[in-house]
Amino acid sequence: MASIFTKIIAGEIPSYKIAEDENYYAFLDINPNAKGHTLVIPKREENKIFDLSKDEYDGLMSFSYRVAKALEKTIPCERIGMSVIGLEVPHVHVHLIPIHKMDDMRFISKEKLNQDEFVAIANAVAENFE
Ligand code: AMP
Repeated sequence: MASIFTKIIAGEIPSYKIAEDENYYAFLDINPNAKGHTLVIPKREENKIFDLSKDEYDGLMSFSYRVAKALEKTIPCERIGMSVIGLEVPHVHVHLIPIHKMDDMRFISKEKLNQDEFVAIANAVAENFE
């Protein structure tokens, strides 16, 4: 069965898209730790990050780098934190989180955003994506 993220890529489920290319897709996390919390995924569905081929892994990291640069330009923060967990959604995803403090990386303190705020953040980051 297709993962929820494969359905997002296919446009069957909506997402707040930031950027995509042939192989990778970046969009806002729907339950963000902080404003701008973004997920970067390979379009090819794979459960665990280290089951990707080396080339696919390198491509995912390069794409994440570009997304992180756009986040840094757009969202006031101390730095961009990065983590990979994947216990909830079995489709590889890199969390990029604009953080102010350690707790922002702990998936406990959540930011409540409305639809307009999600759209505004996604569009602003997308404009800075190079
Ligand atoms: P994990 O698999 O533990 O790394 O966490 C999965 C992440 O995916 C969580 O941070 C969720 O908030 C996020 N998530 C789940 N469904 C969606 C969705 N439809 N759109 C955006 N983010 C999602």
